[in-house]
Amino acid sequence: MSYLMSNYKKEDIVFTEGKNSVLIDKNGKDYIDFAAGIGVCSLGHANDKILKTINKQSKKILHTSNLYKNETQEKLAKKISKLLGYKTYAFFCNSGAEANECAIKLARKYGTQNFKEKKYEILSLKNSFHGRTIATLKLTGQDKFHPKDFAPYPDGFKFFDSIDEIIENINEKTVAVIIELVQGEGGVKALDKDSVAKLSEVLKQRNLLLITDEVQCGVYRTGEFVASKEYGIKPDIITFAKGLGGGVPIGACVSKEDIFTFGDHGSTFGGNHLVTNVALTTLNELVKLKKSGDLDKNIKNFQKHLDEIIKDYPLIFEKRTGLGLMQGLVLKDSKNLDIIYKKCLENGLLILKSGTNILRFLPPLNIDKDEIKEGFKRFKTSLKCL
Ligand SMILES: *Cc1c(COP(=O)(O)O)cnc(C)c1O
Repeated sequence: MSYLMSNYKKEDIVFTEGKNSVLIDKNGKDYIDFAAGIGVCSLGHANDKILKTINKQSKKILHTSNLYKNETQEKLAKKISKLLGYKTYAFFCNSGAEANECAIKLARKYGTQNFKEKKYEILSLKNSFHGRTIATLKLTGQDKFHPKDFAPYPDGFKFFDSIDEIIENINEKTVAVIIELVQGEGGVKALDKDSVAKLSEVLKQRNLLLITDEVQCGVYRTGEFVASKEYGIKPDIITFAKGLGGGVPIGACVSKEDIFTFGDHGSTFGGNHLVTNVALTTLNELVKLKKSGDLDKNIKNFQKHLDEIIKDYPLIFEKRTGLGLMQGLVLKDSKNLDIIYKKCLENGLLILKSGTNILRFLPPLNIDKDEIKEGFKRFKTSLKCL
């Protein structure tokens, strides 16, 4: 009998340790990790640099709250702005949902202060995912996330089928649009570049805000620091979490405009000494990985393996989707989703699911080429059952 709430359905596997992109369970079985804790462990497991940072920092100070200055927070905020290439103001929190909550509050305050009639509506896309708090659930454009059990939900959120439809439905109440440039939970779908550019332009002309939720697709996941760079846009607000801390819980909301004033928002844990130090180390390592060319090599190599799978198993797979190391294989038959997922576990390979018929791959960004090779060997073995 468990003392945990029943909201998760967990696999009966207990991981006890890991190194790079390999995890070991308590029976000593090894797994190649193509999931990275849902895109969190961007530098894999037990990374030397992260280890050192945690060790060093834990001997000094872990937490002091936001009542006092924290120079690492300043450094991390500056680093993010420098990597973006334009001036931003950061707020640090502990998760993706919280980063989006911050974005919602920023947008609503912006909508109050900048127009004669308050604007407050935020538009999102169908199949998006923005978090599990009551507000971010409502922001999430999937009806299955709005069951009556949790009603009433807050007002001011609407979702639409496409970017064109969003543009058509902007009205006098609209203050912002939030998009995942590559939808994670909703099918590893990279949005169309021209549509995104058009949306960005329309919003700019009307002085409305573009928010990109880069909780999953940001922090080099797609090959650049942010997916917005791939899209050639400069969003007004960007939210981060998952990969930002290399495994420690940290989220960030960054904004071009400094909208909040004293007392508008806060978080006790947000951006404490431990997590900001680890995030800074993570970013420094990822910058090196990008500059050395290794990140681009890994992306190419990983995608090549996926393309081979598509070519070799045309009856099982329809196509590859995604960007960078945020990849999906679309299945022709959704029945195979759970079958392949389970077989991979049996064969020592961790992958993820997305939507109803997509296998999702979010490996550590510094994954080794031998780990990639071994992972795909196990993947092919797993396909034999079909
Ligand atoms: C995971 C995710 C979230 C929610 O992040 P949490 O840390 O679970 O709160 C929000 N947006 C996107 C795009 C995500 O992938």
